[in-house]
Amino acid sequence: MSIKNIRIFGDAVLTKKADEVKDFDKEIQQLVKDLTETMREAPGVGLAAPQIGVSLRVFTYCVDEDKPGHLINPVLQLSDARQYGDEGCLSLPGLVFDTDRSFGVIARGKNMYGEDVVIEGSELLARCIQHETDHLDGILFVDRLDSDTRKLAMKSIRESEWFGADAPIMKISPHETFGLSI
Ligand code: ZN
Repeated sequence: MSIKNIRIFGDAVLTKKADEVKDFDKEIQQLVKDLTETMREAPGVGLAAPQIGVSLRVFTYCVDEDKPGHLINPVLQLSDARQYGDEGCLSLPGLVFDTDRSFGVIARGKNMYGEDVVIEGSELLARCIQHETDHLDGILFVDRLDSDTRKLAMKSIRESEWFGADAPIMKISPHETFGLSI
């Protein structure tokens, strides 16, 4: 088991654009394993490599409990239809805000063996894939909020007990974010 520490808002790795994966070697396969285990332990429905301090374009997801998946070097095709609903992030513990996203997504990329993969999803899976791909571009979900909600979010961040703390690990109750932390 390799459960990694989840990086919290304020950590520079979360605002950096992650690098493309070029070598699909044992290290990448181990990274996917670590992400999957850390995501399940959190628990979350998705986790991106920068959230465990690795600046590579890799994320895992687990919207349907029996079917954890991963995607490397994702390229997204977004639907025009929108969805508006609760979203949270393991790197911003305890915060949930209504976030505007595309309703559907077709994500193309690679699996950990370098093979082509296409994931088509809607609703929560689409939300998750957009959220995780944003992490690979150094974008957090609070950056996607409208300006009034973002002001509220920044206030909540400043008032959070983890804000500015030195401790890199923050455990959260699965109930606080209704299992939507991604
Ligand atoms: Zn997140």
